[in-house]
Amino acid sequence: QYRTGNEVRELFLRFFETKGHRRVHSSSLVPANDPTLLFTNAGMNQFKDVFLGAEKREYNRATTSQKCVRAGGKHNDLENVGFTRRHHTFFEMLGNFSFGDYFKKDAIAFAWELVTSPEWMGIAKDRLYVTIFEGDEEVPRDSEAEQFWIATGVPKERIFTYGRKDNFWQMGETGPCGPCSELFYDMGLEASEHGKDLPFGQDDARYVEIWNLVFMQFDRSAVVDPLGKTTSYKLTPLPKPCVDTGMGLERVSAVLQGKISNFDTDLFTPLIERAEELTGKRVSQAELDRETRTADEDAASLRIIADHARAATFLISDGVLPGPNERGSVLRKIMRRAIRHGRLLGHEKPFLFQMVYAVRDLMAGAYPELNESAERVARAVEAEERQFDRVLKVGAAKLDQELVLAAKSGDSPVLSGEVAFHLYETFGLPEDFIMMAARDAGIAFDKTGFEAAKEEEKARARASWKGGSQKTASPAFRDLPKTGFEGYRSLTSTDAEVLAIV
Ligand code: ATP
Ligand code: MG
Ligand code: MG
Ligand code: MG
Repeated sequence: QYRTGNEVRELFLRFFETKGHRRVHSSSLVPANDPTLLFTNAGMNQFKDVFLGAEKREYNRATTSQKCVRAGGKHNDLENVGFTRRHHTFFEMLGNFSFGDYFKKDAIAFAWELVTSPEWMGIAKDRLYVTIFEGDEEVPRDSEAEQFWIATGVPKERIFTYGRKDNFWQMGETGPCGPCSELFYDMGLEASEHGKDLPFGQDDARYVEIWNLVFMQFDRSAVVDPLGKTTSYKLTPLPKPCVDTGMGLERVSAVLQGKISNFDTDLFTPLIERAEELTGKRVSQAELDRETRTADEDAASLRIIADHARAATFLISDGVLPGPNERGSVLRKIMRRAIRHGRLLGHEKPFLFQMVYAVRDLMAGAYPELNESAERVARAVEAEERQFDRVLKVGAAKLDQELVLAAKSGDSPVLSGEVAFHLYETFGLPEDFIMMAARDAGIAFDKTGFEAAKEEEKARARASWKGGSQKTASPAFRDLPKTGFEGYRSLTSTDAEVLAIV
């Protein structure tokens, strides 16, 4: 049965309400009281202290649709976006949580009922696969979960085991931890990245993870010797185990809408159409230089713009502004990537700010805060578009000078990697912008030298990082990038300089 993205979100929350869960509003993308986390990146973030037992709530079952951003930090999906069908920088994570109430048995039964019951999602069982933790020296195979899946109706041969990387969760070196169990959907042969009928586990594009169930079951503590040095770790069963789950709204909507790409769901198509309208009129001379761009590349640019417009809108709405600090620089990177793709589509005037209204129109039903913030957000986006335009103009003039110099350098002229890196680092010119300009001028681009200069700068930045150890922070909470972010990193500190030249 076809359901809109908005209906799917509501369906999930309503299902868990009928199972005694309190519907809790999404928390902000800027984590409260957690400076170690760059952006909220999972539904459980706002319940961290409840899981740790440091905070009590008046309910012990909750359900949310949580705004998440995975750009920058440990979970960084930014470079994937536009090129996989299932990754976004901003996405909504649907979740149900048990704070010491029900555990594996019910969590698994709930999940299977919601996903397969015709009254709810009604997904065909023969398209679903389950993974459980395979076990290692420290934690045994999760045969409990396996038994509960089988009891609830999953054939044994559809259950696969995975290792620590995918199917074990821990909050840090120490603290709560436990096995995960994931649900995958078979998008079918047409989604295959190999064009071959491969079994589960061998085709990431075809078998898509839609839901992760985390079973917080143990407390991991350090065993120390008399000198206070950690010699090993010990697992103690938690007296009140907890459940934390996360289902990607965009992915499950794709499933229910019969699409193999999240970007073809109604959560994205109105945004992509709007981006097309806003950038579509190719009028500039530059358009002629871009004949080499394929329709696929144009489509990827539109997806990137749609995705990044959502991220920018929600981040600014939650109080982040483009700037030199960690959060602000990631936001700026996202916006500039979107603006750049507008230019690749041949559009050079501010347009991204208009996308803010399209995002509001689509999503304010679920996130009413967008009604209040849209004007302010749009103004901030437009200001960034104008500033980036000035940065590009200054950088482009400098680039032209360097190309003229390089052209005189011999029979087969080369733009040196060092010079290119300087333009990239100090003037904020995107790498492919430099490469294309060089190509257009018939000058080779010293890619190896450029990469070497970039690596050197990264090493320098790492060496000067003075942050403290975050050893005991959770992986999910260990999200602050240690070297700041790459790319426009130093541009953010030289913006003032560059603009002063203008
Ligand atoms: P993947 O392996 O596909 O990158 P993940 O294992 O990193 O996903 P989890 O951390 O388990 O994801 O998050 C729970 C759910 O959130 C996933 O099962 C997926 O449905 C969704 N999800 C995770 N990352 C993204 C993303 N970048 N864009 C959209 N949905 C996502
Ligand atoms: Mg991931
Ligand atoms: Mg995964
Ligand atoms: Mg997962």
